[in-house]
Amino acid sequence: MYIMPTVQSNKKPSVYLDNNATTTLCRQSIDTAIKWMRDPVNPSSDSRRGVEARDMLEDGRKYIKQHCSAKNYSVIYTSGASESNSLIIRSTVEAYIKCKKTKPHIITSSTEHKSILKTCEALREVGMLDVTYVKPGASGCIPPSLIKKEITPRTCLITIMGANNELGCINSLKEIGIIAHESKIPFHSDFVQLFGKFKYNLPLNNIDAISVSFHKLCGPIGCGLLVVNNDFIKGYGIDGQIGGTQQDGLRGGTQNVPAIAGALVAMRHTFINRKEKNDKMYALRTYTIEELGKKYTITGYSKYMSTPTPGEISVPIEIVILGQRDTKRTLPNTILLSVVKAKGAPFCNVKLKKALDKFNVIVSIGSACNTSSANASHVLNAINAPDVIKRGVLRISFCDITTKKDIKQFISAFVEGVNAQK
Ligand code: PLP
Repeated sequence: MYIMPTVQSNKKPSVYLDNNATTTLCRQSIDTAIKWMRDPVNPSSDSRRGVEARDMLEDGRKYIKQHCSAKNYSVIYTSGASESNSLIIRSTVEAYIKCKKTKPHIITSSTEHKSILKTCEALREVGMLDVTYVKPGASGCIPPSLIKKEITPRTCLITIMGANNELGCINSLKEIGIIAHESKIPFHSDFVQLFGKFKYNLPLNNIDAISVSFHKLCGPIGCGLLVVNNDFIKGYGIDGQIGGTQQDGLRGGTQNVPAIAGALVAMRHTFINRKEKNDKMYALRTYTIEELGKKYTITGYSKYMSTPTPGEISVPIEIVILGQRDTKRTLPNTILLSVVKAKGAPFCNVKLKKALDKFNVIVSIGSACNTSSANASHVLNAINAPDVIKRGVLRISFCDITTKKDIKQFISAFVEGVNAQK
C-alpha cells in the first residue's frame, strides 16, 4: 500500500493567537464526533441508536442546565450562535406582534455581533421593529443607565452581549438584568465569549436567554445553543423559526448528532479546573503587556478618545491598550492593542499581520489599515476610535494551552514587524 510521505517542515510550529475567532478542536471532541459519524443515527427514530442519541442529547441538556443553575430553562441545539441570536430576536418580535398587534421595540448595543445587528436591521427595514442601539463607553462596556433611559412601553426584549469579542470587555449583566426585569422585559445575552470562561447562574443574574457557540470552546464549528427561560417561552408564546417537530417545535430539523456529541465533550473538558485556567490566562495577559512595555511605551486609550490625530507622542512608537482597565471586567484571554507611530506614514496593521504570518504567528486585525472609516470594525467606530488607532489595531486572543513560549515567539515577531515600519 502506498503511504504518503510525511512532510518535513523547518518552520517553527505556529503560534495561534486568534482564539476569539475560533479554537482548535480538542482530541476528545474529534474522537467522539467520529464515533457518532460511523453509523447512521437519527435522534428522532426508535432504533437503539436513536434512543442512545436522544439520551446523549438529553444528558447534555441536563449538564448545561445544572451548569447555569437554569432548572426552569429549555436548552435548544442550533447551528451556532448566529442562529441562536436570530432565533431569539425573530421569535420574540413575531410573538409580540401576534399578541399585542403593535410594533415592538428592542434595545441592544452598537457593539453586538453582526448576527444581532443585521437581524434587528432586517426586521426594522420591513417595518416590524423599532430598535435602539445603545453606545458603549470608551472601554466598550455598555452603561446600564443608558439602557434604562431607552425603555418604552413597547420594548419586548433587551439583548446585550456578555463580553465583546474585539475589546474583551465584560458587561454588567446583573445590573442590566435588574433594569430589564423592573420593567418586566426579558433579557437575552450573547454569551459566545463568556460561556467557556465563566460560570453564570442565569436566574440569579436576571438573564432569560443566552446564545452559545461551541467552536469558541474547542468544539466543532456549526454547533451552538440557545438556552431560554420557560416562563419567557410560555409567557410570550415563543415559536421556532425553522418548522418541524424536533426540540418541541422551537427548532425543527434533525439535530447534528456527531457535532453535538463532540461539542458536549469539549464543553465538559473546558469547564475542568476553569478558575486555574483563567488565572493562567490572566497572568499571560499581564506578562504580554509587561514584555511589550520593556520594548515600547504603553499607554491607555483615554489620550486618543477625542483626538482625530495622534496625541503628542514623544517616542517613535507607542502601544495603546484598548478595552477595560479593570481586569475583573476583561476576558482573561483577550488583548486589543494599537500601534501608533509619531512620524511618517501611519502604521499599517495589514503589513504587521503579514510580518507575523512569516514568523508563523497568527493574530487578528479586525479592521484593516487601508479600509475607510465607514468600513472599519463597527466596534472601533462605536467607541469613536480615531483613524490612527484603527490603522494600527491588532487583537491577540489566547486559549487554555497558550504558553509563555508562544508569547515570547509573538513578541519577537512583533518587534521585527514593527521595526520594519519604523
Ligand atoms: N457572537 C459573538 C460575540 C461572536 O464572537 C461570534 C463569532 O465570532 C458569534 C456570535 C457567532 O457565532 P457562530 O460562529 O457560532 O455563528
